[in-house]
Amino acid sequence: MLASVYYGPHDVRVENVADPQIQEPTDVVVKITHAAICGSDLWFYRGITRPEPGTHTGHELMGIVEEVGREVRSIKKGDRVIAPFFISDGTCDFCRAGLYTSCRHRQSWGIGGNDAGQGEAARVPLADGTLVVVPAEVGDDQQLLKSLLPLTDVMGTGHHCAVCAGVKEGSTVAIIGDGAVGLCGVLAARRLGAARIILFSHHEDRAAIGRAFGATDIVTEQGEEAVNKIMAMSDGGIPHVMECVGSQATFDTAINIARPGGTVGFVGVPAEQPTIGLSRMFGSNIAMRGGVAPVRAYIPELMADILAGKIDPAPVLTMTVNMSGIPDGYSAMDRRTAIKVMVRPLQRAAINTKSGQSGK
Ligand SMILES: [Zn+2]
Repeated sequence: MLASVYYGPHDVRVENVADPQIQEPTDVVVKITHAAICGSDLWFYRGITRPEPGTHTGHELMGIVEEVGREVRSIKKGDRVIAPFFISDGTCDFCRAGLYTSCRHRQSWGIGGNDAGQGEAARVPLADGTLVVVPAEVGDDQQLLKSLLPLTDVMGTGHHCAVCAGVKEGSTVAIIGDGAVGLCGVLAARRLGAARIILFSHHEDRAAIGRAFGATDIVTEQGEEAVNKIMAMSDGGIPHVMECVGSQATFDTAINIARPGGTVGFVGVPAEQPTIGLSRMFGSNIAMRGGVAPVRAYIPELMADILAGKIDPAPVLTMTVNMSGIPDGYSAMDRRTAIKVMVRPLQRAAINTKSGQSGK
């Protein structure tokens, strides 16, 4: 099969790799119908993190189950499934508490011999705990499937940020980050009943999506100017702040615009190890809560609202590529000409899960 493979900064290649096969009785094999490139994939693309050359890329995937291990109970051949960005057993104490990202048997896509999301197929370990089945009535509705794809990561991550920031009915919220996560955060804040949603964005196309998703105000300033603007338009700061980038500048802004007693939710990957302004947090009793989003826990409730037409995150997917277009997709996201890229592997016959021939 074809899959996307990392070789180094700005060097992602689509190559022939071994076809997936069942290895453990709890595995399934999924033919991938939809995948995506994540903003967090840019950390390795830009050389800020350094995976092993040869690592398969991608952690956001949906597809059709082709083969089922003998101990799998809840997933059957032909099911359409959504996979979140971590593999989890669904049964340990952390999973039962909803913190799937701390699963005692957690695995990652593309690591330790696992297949990854940006390919034609994948072996899914711990299938019962990892996968969520899409209701059969969705069928092959491509518009709806595109709307469901962000549940693999960005929609659940934006929602987690809103939950961690304590957003509720009537809240005033500020969202820092106009990438796919920040925009999905707008959708999530509105869904939770926020009355005023201030989005930080200095890209008109992204701000337009933000407004369509429910943002009531757009702040185009950055840094100190942004803090001054927020202080001028609010009564001493914002009670619920959502940090959706992970950089030093955005953590600083998030903490500096929070109202005394307020809460900062954070979900941006802190890849550059930012320092946190504890003095301001101490002096103004600002809480901070967040981290890697346990999106597996949120997929059922968010999927129900997408299928009911209450929310639609599809507009964050602004570019679609096939397998050979994956390097172009990375480049477009790197240059910010695409907000988020959807990958539609080429239509083809059922994969041969028996041959295991590697083209590497
Ligand atoms: Zn677990």
